[in-house]
Amino acid sequence: MARSPRMVRAIPPLRRALAQFRDADETIALVPTMGALHDGHLALVRLARKRADRLIVSIFVNPAQFAPHEDFGSYPRALGGDIAALAGVDLVWAPAVETMYPADFATQIVPQGPAKVGLEDAFRPHFFTGVGTVVTKLLIQCAPDIAVFGEKDFQQLKVVTRLARDLDLPVKIIGAPTVREKDGLAMSSRNAYLSAAERAAAPTLYRVLKDSAGQIAGGERIARVLDEGGRAIEQAGFTLDYLEARHAETLQNVDSIKDGPLRLLAAAKLGRTRLIDNVAVPQRR
Ligand code: AMP
Repeated sequence: MARSPRMVRAIPPLRRALAQFRDADETIALVPTMGALHDGHLALVRLARKRADRLIVSIFVNPAQFAPHEDFGSYPRALGGDIAALAGVDLVWAPAVETMYPADFATQIVPQGPAKVGLEDAFRPHFFTGVGTVVTKLLIQCAPDIAVFGEKDFQQLKVVTRLARDLDLPVKIIGAPTVREKDGLAMSSRNAYLSAAERAAAPTLYRVLKDSAGQIAGGERIARVLDEGGRAIEQAGFTLDYLEARHAETLQNVDSIKDGPLRLLAAAKLGRTRLIDNVAVPQRR
């Protein structure tokens, strides 16, 4: 059986471990997470494992990406179980909040471009500054050759890809497909918040995204498909934040399938739980 990973919580031992990897000419992959790991995270870990000699998984619930009214305090934390699930990983980087953000911390990365397109940014205005700052720090701290992020957080994947390029960080950002429950619900640490009734309603979000993508691919008018889809999501008991068709690379608005490749992205609340998901619109041949 593969050994449990070594957990490192401070910068000096992290640097020593990285220096050992680099002295041996080994490549490094990083998978950043907020912990409470599920099979979606573990798929990223397996992908990263194949792409580098050494694998670091970071576990850090980043206060900077939560607004005061959001769920930072109650976000699920499960470090013991996470470590057990990460057998075969070389190093778990789990800094304390004070290590990441000492009391006199005074710097932010404020992404623009795909971080300012009126999707997540319109509903969580603080979010991409928090993500940009922490991801930049993680990429500098761990200096990986590759870093893997999930398509589940599609706008985040685009923001991080642009950030790494804009800042000339010597890392390749790799996107990994969304892992779903059998009924289609995208796996998420926040699914643990759902009541039984909400859990039963939750797969509607993906079903509507899939159906809408099929209709748009079949030539239906985008605005009509999204109107109907939004109504179906609300009928299932959600409060809809957005259901939008965007260009899959720039995340800019599109008028027709000819402006593609397209991505459908949605966010909606079920009780106190906010779910996000997205799908590709199949391209016509
Ligand atoms: P989180 O712990 O929620 O910050 O997620 C850490 C990484 O795992 C991010 O790159 C997410 O996009 C990715 N991720 C989360 N859920 C899934 C999923 N169901 N499938 C694939 N990747 C995921």
